[in-house]
Amino acid sequence: MARLSPILKQATPVTVSHAEGLFVFGEDGRRYLDFTAGIGVTSTGHCHPRVVRAIAEQAGKLIHGQYVTVKHRPLLTLCERLGQVLPGELRSLFFANSGSEAMEAALRLVRQATGRPNVIVFHGGFHGRTVGAASMTTSSPRFRTGYAPLMGGVHIAPFPYAYRYGWDEATTTRFALRELDYLLATVTSPDDTAALVVEPVLGEGGFVPANTAFLDGLRERADRYGFLLVLDEVQTGMGRTGRFWGHEHFGVRPDVLVAAKGLTSGLPLSFIAASEALMSKAPPGSQGGTYGGNAVACAAAIATLDVIADEGLVANAAAKGRRLADGLAGIAADNDVIGDVRGLGLMLGCEFSTRDGEPDPATALRVQQEAIEAGLLLQIGGPWRNVLRMLPALTVSEEDVDDALRIVSHAVKTAQA
Ligand code: PMP
Repeated sequence: MARLSPILKQATPVTVSHAEGLFVFGEDGRRYLDFTAGIGVTSTGHCHPRVVRAIAEQAGKLIHGQYVTVKHRPLLTLCERLGQVLPGELRSLFFANSGSEAMEAALRLVRQATGRPNVIVFHGGFHGRTVGAASMTTSSPRFRTGYAPLMGGVHIAPFPYAYRYGWDEATTTRFALRELDYLLATVTSPDDTAALVVEPVLGEGGFVPANTAFLDGLRERADRYGFLLVLDEVQTGMGRTGRFWGHEHFGVRPDVLVAAKGLTSGLPLSFIAASEALMSKAPPGSQGGTYGGNAVACAAAIATLDVIADEGLVANAAAKGRRLADGLAGIAADNDVIGDVRGLGLMLGCEFSTRDGEPDPATALRVQQEAIEAGLLLQIGGPWRNVLRMLPALTVSEEDVDDALRIVSHAVKTAQA
């Protein structure tokens, strides 16, 4: 008998028989409230009927129309639809399958377009597991250990993670930008630097939002030195943060935007968006792939965009996110073990710390396990794996939020007993 490799580390013991909306049903006969959404993927909930119908209909017409061999209608329609939600000049799209693959595509584009070798990433960022993406990932040694030598040309500057530094946001941001300037003065000169690559909210790194002053600072340096600003919106895109794109909270203008996860409600599809002028600087045929822009995945993406618009899911994410954030702040006020509650929209995290301010992964893990036992699926992230992460589907109801808060509140108490 063959079995799943132990290189996969399972976060929960659940084997799913089926799922619907906010709920996952285990083969054990139990029902779980899913506040993981497949790591932010099932944006419209599990198996939304309109997404299921779109997938079934497309599967009967064309499953795979290899996109450098032929074009197909779902791909062209999806381009049009994304044009309605993408910012400014980002009207040129390249499709791939996963977030990592899209980050590789972004890296290739910025190097080819600028002719410069280096990129600057921000500490705690996660951009994927393939070599280029893993080289840009600084959220955990787990993605790098034993994989050396990774790709060269990646330099790391601080992200304004105020809670970790123990400073206020303005002080942390000034520090982060000063260190960026120091890096440019001492390690990677502007002439060698192609791009700044950043998440609007650190995802795997512990749900830490950037801020307007920081991203303005990156934009200003990008303009001054001719860097491209690459926003990795793989996790923050498609309404997750209570705005359609995470960067809209901060008013910053990206040169390249990368998206995946919530785009299709579950099928593998990712893209990078840039201006036509920028994309035209890379040689034609320099990017491609067998499966990119799969027809069924594109149909699922179009249906997902329809559902997000028709059901007002961006506004729902903002409203339910506020309710969840308020509830978590209340739980934190009653429990010293939660040192910080943060995030945007439905991307919320609680950082667990000991009384003397040290990371407390043991308590975070106990809370997660207690919650699962009580029927709530949650994930853990952060550099010390001490951040409980909540990212339910954008269709989450008030009742679901309140149920989750009740379970978390009880789990936090039990975990300290
Ligand atoms: N970028 C970000 C911000 C992500 O959160 C992830 C996945 N967690 C990736 C890139 C990589 O995506 P994938 O796992 O689809 O390769």
